[in-house]
Amino acid sequence: HELSHIRNFSIIAHIDHGKSTLSDRILELTGTVAKRDMQAQLLDSMDIERERGITIKSQAVRVSYTADDGETYQLNLIDTPGHVDFTYEVSRSLAACDGAVLVVDATQGVEAQTVANAMLAMNADLEIIPLINKIDLPAAEPERVKAEIEDGLAIPADDAVLASGKTGEGVHDLLEAVVYNIPAPEGNGEAPLRALIFDSYFDAYRGVVALIRVVDGSIKKGDKIRMMATGTETLVEEVGARHPQEVAEPALYVGEVGYLVTGLKDVSQVKVGDTITLADGGVNDPLPGYREAKPMVFTGLFPIDGDQYEPLKEALEKLSLNDPALVWEPETSHALGFGFRVGFLGLLHMEVIKERLEREFGLDLLATAPSVEYHVYLKGGEMVSLHSPQEMPDPGSIDHVEEPYLKAKILIPPDYVGAVMDLAVGRRGNFVTMNYLSQTTVEMLWEIPLSELILDFFDKLKSNTKGYASLDYEMDGYKPSQLVKLDILLSGKPIDALSFIVHKDKAYDRGRVLCDKLKEIIPRQMFEVPIQAAIGGRVLARQTVKAKRKDVLAKCYGGDITRKRKLLEKQKAGKKRMKAIGNVEVPQEAFMAILKVD
Ligand code: GDP
Ligand code: MG
Repeated sequence: HELSHIRNFSIIAHIDHGKSTLSDRILELTGTVAKRDMQAQLLDSMDIERERGITIKSQAVRVSYTADDGETYQLNLIDTPGHVDFTYEVSRSLAACDGAVLVVDATQGVEAQTVANAMLAMNADLEIIPLINKIDLPAAEPERVKAEIEDGLAIPADDAVLASGKTGEGVHDLLEAVVYNIPAPEGNGEAPLRALIFDSYFDAYRGVVALIRVVDGSIKKGDKIRMMATGTETLVEEVGARHPQEVAEPALYVGEVGYLVTGLKDVSQVKVGDTITLADGGVNDPLPGYREAKPMVFTGLFPIDGDQYEPLKEALEKLSLNDPALVWEPETSHALGFGFRVGFLGLLHMEVIKERLEREFGLDLLATAPSVEYHVYLKGGEMVSLHSPQEMPDPGSIDHVEEPYLKAKILIPPDYVGAVMDLAVGRRGNFVTMNYLSQTTVEMLWEIPLSELILDFFDKLKSNTKGYASLDYEMDGYKPSQLVKLDILLSGKPIDALSFIVHKDKAYDRGRVLCDKLKEIIPRQMFEVPIQAAIGGRVLARQTVKAKRKDVLAKCYGGDITRKRKLLEKQKAGKKRMKAIGNVEVPQEAFMAILKVD
């Protein structure tokens, strides 16, 4: 644990450019994990991460590497998520590093999150090693990609590592570059302890485990420590490194990255970004922390079976232990009963959480359409934060409403500029600028309401550009907007869980499209179901679900019993995601229909 023999680095990239696969090759080449124990994307440990092939949580792993100079180095590798929803995980991990490997797919070139992640690394003052990956593919164009890295990101790319996570080619070069180009950590081993918490999670047996980077001093079992932001004091139960399984060590020394078992039971006492010092004789000045993750998208989650309300609450409590970005509060809907309003970082985060709730906790949930946080200014001057369309105050009492905007960066080949224009303008986007990153890549900047982006913007962007576009965004504050609440009525009754907030100019179109969609989605019932879209009392659009013609079971009358049973089971399965609202059975899809607008 000589400082000069430690390297702490991250691998950053646009999603799917091959970070996780490269990490696997590093584990293999350094003998950290035997080839026979190798599973693809070993660091992606959550089931959902594996299935979807995305990294959600950052992971830290320590490997030992004997370089060509004959010296053995301790490399701490932090794998980061590439999806824009999880940018905050990236900035966390980077704070624990001295360098970053910027992976760019040799067939795709620089994409939006390549730019965003490279910016994060530059802002964190990290040494950046460009790596051009997937050079085994026939369509690889390393020279073009080098030019994009130089022109678009201003990172010298002459010496970029050429590699393939698939064949393992270039991985040795990468490790040599890490040893020679990334600076050794700086710090004072004799000074009092200062360690940065860059991640934490809850372990059912051991309580809260923190991932830390020791900046000064050292930390060992039995030390009495204090978390500086929260003031929590505790005794260190264990420290060690992950290989990637956790192995206890006598101590973590200056410059090292590892885990710390705190013995605490509440993750809120162990805040990511906080500084750990000794309870006695510690320091007074914490390390710079970082911005807390802020939820941007809100949705109602309701158990289909009312008995699952308490289990849902417990499940949310458990998941939020490991996910500071997940926030929730109880919500009651006339239509759906008792549930929760849950805040997420973005749509992918929402999907992942919903899936985990259903899969890991066996819950059957109904999710209402995602919405953003609106600021409603009342005539009295008071501002109300609105997380749910249901809470919209009476229009007569409103002075004006503001909605969150994003700065969106879209990277595309020049041919698709027109297609992106059409889409972004149709979604109330304001064009900011456009410039050429290289001959083959244009960067367009837009200001666009977040509420428009959480519609099917990304899907549309991809399909209108044959998959070439990539997107990155950040919050751009609140702007005034002409917004109204659109109500959906079934059989003449407004259904609170189906109402949504929309720009005045879009209300008519969206109302009409939604009525048409709902007509297709809501199954025929024993009676006719009129569907209406209305603002206040004014109906903008209507449709009707016709009554069912005859009982399906009638066909089986007197027929064989197994067939009848099968039919019943089939109906039951189909009903699983349905919720009876009044006397109308409404499927899950109906709540999401709002998202597919054209
Ligand atoms: P990440 O999202 O950046 O972590 O990317 P992954 O490591 O999950 O890789 C995304 C996809 O690219 C997977 O299907 C990999 O099998 C594939 N892939 C990764 N590296 C290479 C490579 O060097 N060559 C080829 N041909 N495919 C690769
Ligand atoms: Mg990955």
